[in-house]
Amino acid sequence: IQAKRFTSKLSASKLQIKKADALKPLVANNELVFGKSFTDHMISVDWDEKKGWADPQLHPYENLSLAPSAVVFHYASECFEGMKAYKDAKGKIRLFRPDMNMARMNRSTARIALPQFDGDELIKIIGEYLKTDERWIPEGKGYSLYLRPTMIGTQEMLGVNPPTSAKLFVIGCPVGPYYKTGFNAIRLLATTEYVRAWPRGTGEAKIGGNYAPGLLPQRLALQQGYQQNLWLFGEQHQLTEVGTMNLFILLKNDNGDLELITPPLDGSILRGVTRDSIIGLAKEWNEFEVSERNMTMPELRDLAKAGRVVEMFGAGTACVVSPIKEIGYLGEDIKIPLDPKDPNSQAGPYAKRFNDAINAIQYGEVEHPWSVVV
Ligand code: PMP
Repeated sequence: IQAKRFTSKLSASKLQIKKADALKPLVANNELVFGKSFTDHMISVDWDEKKGWADPQLHPYENLSLAPSAVVFHYASECFEGMKAYKDAKGKIRLFRPDMNMARMNRSTARIALPQFDGDELIKIIGEYLKTDERWIPEGKGYSLYLRPTMIGTQEMLGVNPPTSAKLFVIGCPVGPYYKTGFNAIRLLATTEYVRAWPRGTGEAKIGGNYAPGLLPQRLALQQGYQQNLWLFGEQHQLTEVGTMNLFILLKNDNGDLELITPPLDGSILRGVTRDSIIGLAKEWNEFEVSERNMTMPELRDLAKAGRVVEMFGAGTACVVSPIKEIGYLGEDIKIPLDPKDPNSQAGPYAKRFNDAINAIQYGEVEHPWSVVV
């Protein structure tokens, strides 16, 4: 405890800036590929158990130099965040609920015994980075700079122990609209052979170790003609998440009322920023019941067959909402409605409405405390 008191904290006021000598050519908006090109600069901050956080550095985007024995390569001491910076119509840079990403990252680091940090300070440092690399934030609705805060254990040590040194870094890549030609509803494979997360496991932590094991099931789903896995849990085939998104189901409940359902945060569900925003908006609209409750795949199948499922969609930072049109389950394809008024539609009216409402806030078209000007 004594030693901890004297370790230094992450502080934006100590930021050291080294600008790139030559700037890279920008990528045209119509050539943007998600996660492929990175801006001229990045942020890094080293941490040491005895000294605490070193002075944060804003410096040219470059490779890391790490020992092959660094713990990140052996025991997956890694966690990350996904958030976006938006350019509004007046040219102002905006972040969407960045405090939630910082809080989630600190819960992720805690879960894998990496250090915590002051989230407000990292938001300030990210602000400096965004001003430095402002030309990389693409303009136009649907365009943004995707930010990837990451923390890794860097200690050179093959012992399985909490790391005594770590590195926090942030990189950014310009991205275009998730759906280039409007929405594109997806088919899901309800995955019964593999599990993404389980009670008292790490499902609610955004750690790299949760994602690599999902890649084989994802490939198998793709081979069978489905775009994403619908992750189930337990003998009852409880619904949990979809691909790397939270899941929403709008249905007519037993009373004939509209109810928006999403699985509860039981420790195995990622606490999505988009999830929380959709729940918040739905409660504000107060037009239907909003429930965080469990549902099983057989229940969903029966409701769909009875015509009581109104819409289903995934929700996450990359796409905001991703409408679902079909679910493969135990050899059967279950149809999920989109827009009942338009047989060619790729999104239901409620999915569109949530998407548009969140977009309007993100791009500062409506004033809202969730949108933070940098
Ligand atoms: N679930 C998982 C497993 C995810 O990786 C993500 C993406 N971060 C989400 C849900 C959606 O979270 P958010 O709305 O914060 O992007």
